[in-house]
Amino acid sequence: MKTLKIAIQKSGRLNEKSVELLKNCGLNFENYKSSLISPVSNFPLEILFLRDDDIPEYVQDGIADLGIVGENVIQETEVEVSYLQRLGFGKCSLKIAVPNNNDIASLADLNGKAIATTYPVILGKFLKKEGIQSDIRTISGSVEISPGLGLSDAICDLVSTGGTLKSNGLKPFADVMSSEAVLIGSKSVENNDLVQELIQRIQSVLRAKETKYVVLNVQKYNLDAVLALLPGVKSPSVIPLAEDNWVAVHTVIPERDFWDRISQLKQAGAQGIVVMPIEKIIL
Ligand code: ATP
Ligand code: MG
Repeated sequence: MKTLKIAIQKSGRLNEKSVELLKNCGLNFENYKSSLISPVSNFPLEILFLRDDDIPEYVQDGIADLGIVGENVIQETEVEVSYLQRLGFGKCSLKIAVPNNNDIASLADLNGKAIATTYPVILGKFLKKEGIQSDIRTISGSVEISPGLGLSDAICDLVSTGGTLKSNGLKPFADVMSSEAVLIGSKSVENNDLVQELIQRIQSVLRAKETKYVVLNVQKYNLDAVLALLPGVKSPSVIPLAEDNWVAVHTVIPERDFWDRISQLKQAGAQGIVVMPIEKIIL
């Protein structure tokens, strides 16, 4: 079968997590900062290291079969690609932000104002939908300093913590879109067996990340109360212990309600709770 190519960011915010995800999928490859292409030794795949802006078009044109890139970049480049999997990292929002001291109180107040951004396409669509006519000033970087320099009245930029806005005397004003890293594919590869195999591996890694493996001991008379709190992949395993009236329960629980669940389990009589990370969950 033909060797696939996957494009990931060469350096920047998505590089490390993209490399980590592929390695966790069991793919062996060298990650030299100097190389632009790296073969995978145990899967018919080559990794291309690119500027994130170039990834959507490379995938659309079939130069790469797959890519890992932020949704914001895909929407800005308006490419025709398939969304194959959301990846849960690189989360951020594209927001309009305004100077702390300003007279902009509602979206309508942006009419006739200048907004600096590196995302003119997404911003243009948003303003059109809201019926606002602003002057979009496209600049290539350091958007957050433009109001201070008198270049614009507002900005539209990516925000994760809001720290950069704050240190430039700006505050978030309106949400334009939220974004995370996604796996995309060129239109022709969706049904390719190797692509399907890779998606399955990625899903098993993502699932494992959201889940913890838990082992606990409980006295038999508390077992029903403990089991009532546990979902498990199918159902929890209950294993007898040397001591007659005790059992061990093995199960998995979702990361998101982990601490609530653990304190409920303790109240229900669980003891000696051991929690372990999971590498993969294959359903
Ligand atoms: P490249 O050199 O590859 O063009 P870049 O400088 O354009 O990189 P980065 O700043 O590395 O891009 O961001 C890559 C992606 O990370 C963004 O497109 C976005 O999807 C995501 N991201 C997550 N949080 C943030 C944030 N706080 N600011 C900017 N991007 C973020
Ligand atoms: Mg870029």
